[in-house]
This record gives sequence, C-alpha cells and structure tokens, in this order.
Amino acid sequence: MEKIKMTTPLVEMDGDEMTRILWKMIKDELLLPYIDLKTEYYDLGLEHRNETNDQVTVDSAMATKKYKVAVKCATITPNAARMDEYNLKEMWKSPNGTIRAILDGTVFRAPIVVKGIEPCVKNWKKPITIARHAYGDVYKGSEMKIPGAGKVELVYTAEDGTQTKELVHNFDGPGIVQGMHNLNKSIESFARSCFSYALDTKQDLWFATKDTISKKYDHTFKDIFQEIYDAEYDEKFKEAGIEYFYTLIDDAVARVMKSEGGYIWACKNYDGDVMSDMVSSAFGSLAMMTSVLVSPEGYYEYEAAHGTVQRHYYKHLKGEETSTNSVATIFAWTGALRKRGELDGNKELMEFADRLEKATIDTIEAGEMTKDLALITTIENPTVLNSEGFIKAIAKRL
Ligand code: NAP
Ligand code: MG
Repeated sequence: MEKIKMTTPLVEMDGDEMTRILWKMIKDELLLPYIDLKTEYYDLGLEHRNETNDQVTVDSAMATKKYKVAVKCATITPNAARMDEYNLKEMWKSPNGTIRAILDGTVFRAPIVVKGIEPCVKNWKKPITIARHAYGDVYKGSEMKIPGAGKVELVYTAEDGTQTKELVHNFDGPGIVQGMHNLNKSIESFARSCFSYALDTKQDLWFATKDTISKKYDHTFKDIFQEIYDAEYDEKFKEAGIEYFYTLIDDAVARVMKSEGGYIWACKNYDGDVMSDMVSSAFGSLAMMTSVLVSPEGYYEYEAAHGTVQRHYYKHLKGEETSTNSVATIFAWTGALRKRGELDGNKELMEFADRLEKATIDTIEAGEMTKDLALITTIENPTVLNSEGFIKAIAKRL
C-alpha cells in the first residue's frame, strides 16, 4: 500500500513519562505504517527542557506560528519533588502555560462519547464542550507572602508617570496577596473564538463569571462578550438557530448539572481548568477528552487533557504491566492530522484521521478497552487490554 503523502510538516512536541511511551507506540503502530509522516520534532521532555534552559518550549511555540498546526504530548510541570528527581537547574514553568502565552487563544475540550461508557450525570445526553480562556488571571499572577503588619496597594503608573492607587488591604498581621491581570485584546479574541466555534459546530454558547462580586475584573469579561456579540454575531446566531447565554458562574454550574449537554461552556482560565476535569471525569475518564488550543490568528495546538500518568510510568519502569488509555493522545494526533489536511487540501489525510478515530471507538464499543474504562463500562465482560494491547487492537481494525 502506498503511504499517504504530506505537503507541510506538523509541529510535533514530545513529552514525558507514560504519555511519552504511548506517543512512540501510537506513531509506530498507527501512523508510520500508513502516512509518510512529516513533522518538525521538538523534544519537550523535562530533561531536554532543562538542557536547553526551556528554550525548546519557546522554539516549539514559534514553530507552531510558522506551520499553524501542532500536536503535543503531556509534559511534566516541575514542582519541588521534580527538582530533585531530574536535578533541575530551575523550576521551569508549565510548558502549556508558556505555549499558551505565546499563541494566545482558547482551549476547547470536549468528551469523546462512546456507547458503553455512560456519563455519571444521567441526564447528560450530548457532549459538553468547555472553552477555556488560555491567557492570564492566576496563571500569570504575582504573589507575595506578607510577613506582618503593613499596607498593600495596587499601583498603576501610566506612561506619563501619573499614578492611580487602590488599597488591597491594611494588614495587622501576616497574610498573603496576589495580583493578576488580563488584556482586553485577549478577552476579545477569546470571545471571538468562542462565537466562531459555536457557529462552526452549531451549538449554543454559555458564558459565566462572578461579575456581581468582581465588578471591574469579571464584569469586563461580561461586557466585552456582550459588545462583540451584539456587534458581530447576533444575526449569525439567529440564522443558525443557536443562542448566546450569559449567567453567573454559580448559576451556570447548577444549570450544567441539570442540562442535557450539547453546548459550549466558555470559562475563564481557572474555571476552565477545574471544570474541564469535572466534566471529563463525569463523562467517563480524563483519557476520553479532546483538547485543542485555537489562537485568534488561526494556529491550532492539539493535546490530551490529562497529564503524564506518573503512577503508571513508575509501574512501567519496574517492568510491571500497565493499562494506560491512549485515546486522548490518539485524538490529539487525529485532530492535528485532520486540520493539516484541511489547511493543505489533503483529503486523504483527513479521511485517515476519521478512520483512525472510528477504529478507536469501534474497538471500545466491541468491548476491548483499558482498565480505566473497563471499571465503568456498561458493556458486559469487557476485555481488559494492556497499554500496548489496546493500541494493537486499534491497529488491527484500522
Ligand atoms: P495525570 O497524569 O492526569 O494522572 C492522574 C491519574 O488519573 C492517574 O494516576 C490515573 O489514575 C488517571 N489517568 C490519567 N490519565 C490516564 C490515562 N490516559 N489512562 C488511565 N488513567 C489515567 O495527573 P498527575 O498524576 O496529577 O500528573 C502527572 C504529571 O502530569 C505531573 O507532573 C503534571 O505536572 C503533569 N500534567 C501535565 C499536563 C499536560 O501536559 N497537559 C496536564 C496535567 C498534568 P490511576 O492511577 O488511579 O490509574
Ligand atoms: Mg486541570
């Protein structure tokens, strides 16, 4: 069989631990036999990030600006324990944070719905897509520990030197303080990405913040969304028969639980981080969720929503068998290949992505799955496969 040709490379960002092991298996078993795979490879494994003083992460994001499509493996975000484990020069920042700061944009996360893996919220019938703003707030915050009594203020110094101050707190003892920011430009592109994605996928868009308490910060998000909606999207939404709906974050959380699904839920950065984990685990598993960063300039970075599955990796290192679910990582590849195909007018590549997704879903629906799914499936007597066995079962169907 002749392999499918690619005209433009994808940016490939390799990662860490168990997902790095899965990454290689997916390429060897599911991609390389069928595609003349063209990638520009960046090793974002922690060792190589440390060797390059994290320059490789920045380079991979810049390459994504050049080629427009990237696929990323999960990576370790270093903490104190990782400093010792990998003998790091510095506690490098989260690669996802670095990449998102360079590309801007919005992360869309949607569950991969499979027969036999039923959501534990019984009224959820359709997927709920979380649109997570990928810039600023606590992820770009500055923090201080306040050692004792004293005054903390926010100070804005304009370019002409004039200052505006706002009291944060008059401390009479030790405490903590945090300053964070966002940019109108980034909020505007967040809003536009959400409205366009809603039109693309013909789903309602919900947005929620805490604007009653945060009368300037969160209220600005609400206002910018409404202004852009009224000016640019109101008619288009009506034509498409979909709705834009704003409410308070606590009301949204309550409504989501009672809903049927089938809409996009736009969330501020932190809300999206937390709520996507809730939605994905309620739909079945963290490993059954797609995740794509869509930048306002039209750059796409596909990844899995879960981490490097450290616990499984340590078992793997001890020579023990693992049953790690590779579905989200496979769908990161199919998402990137399909988008590459779409941008290059490469129909064969797009069709391959569809077939690989179908083979993956068919494998699970036939009762062959990894342990995380076997524990929650409604299919009787599922066959539990190990990490490699599951990928081989997909390859057989493919
Ligand atoms: P994790 O890798 O998502 O895993 C947490 C637990 O969830 C696992 O121990 C496993 O449960 C289950 N799980 C997650 N993905 C699974 C899969 N594909 N198949 C089967 N089970 C799966 O989170 P973590 O252990 O808290 O974090 C590990 C590392 O990942 C950290 O260094 C963190 O910085 C990094 N991280 C990276 C990203 C990213 O790059 N996007 C995101 C989050 C975390 P059981 O052990 O019970 O089987
Ligand atoms: Mg999270």
